[in-house]
Amino acid sequence: MQRPSVLVVEDEAPLVTLLRYNLEKEGFAVAEAHDGEEALIQLREAAPDAVLLDWMLPRVSGLEVCRQIRRVPAWRDLPVIILTARGEEGDRVRGLDSGADDYIVKPFSPSELIARLRAVIRRARPATTAETLGFSDLVMDLAAHRVARSGHPVRLGPTEFRLLRFVMERPGRVFSREQLLDGVWGREAEVELRTVDVHIRRLRKALNEGGRPDLIRTVRAAGYALDTAAN
Ligand code: CA
Repeated sequence: MQRPSVLVVEDEAPLVTLLRYNLEKEGFAVAEAHDGEEALIQLREAAPDAVLLDWMLPRVSGLEVCRQIRRVPAWRDLPVIILTARGEEGDRVRGLDSGADDYIVKPFSPSELIARLRAVIRRARPATTAETLGFSDLVMDLAAHRVARSGHPVRLGPTEFRLLRFVMERPGRVFSREQLLDGVWGREAEVELRTVDVHIRRLRKALNEGGRPDLIRTVRAAGYALDTAAN
């Protein structure tokens, strides 16, 4: 089992240090972001198992970041815990309304935070990670975030992994670049269409290493499909 990873989104440096120290001590891999925009970038880069999200962030509030996360299909089930100095019942409700899974009031005890973090990750796992996907000689282990082709490991970046997962969940179906962009990056993402081509190219290269048959069909003027009739 890979160690769980968490993205800490918090603008107060001493709190980030404290969180990192406690999380790493408990075996978590930690990524950090210091505002909402950086959080969305780090989510793509780090693909964490959960997010600790401060409510009071510069520019974009934690609540808005949470709403944005929930608009991305790939992150719909990503566990998010909101951290806040506020403790009013109404705030709690607003926090959970934004799509957060849990809500922790500062100051908090690190052990309580970690227990609640483990709980949201555990709840998310049955649906998102306790399974494998298969297509032709490809196997994707969603829990371990690993892909193998004919038993050989395939090394993929986080975006290629999400892209492959998206098409493996819908084999044979042809997707336009727009549909892939919506499904993998999210409608809100500011990504150009040709970025899709770049990642398809990387994915193809990784999958076809060693001269194995191409599994991604390019459909002229339409898009791409995962297909054994790729060649
Ligand atoms: Ca803050």
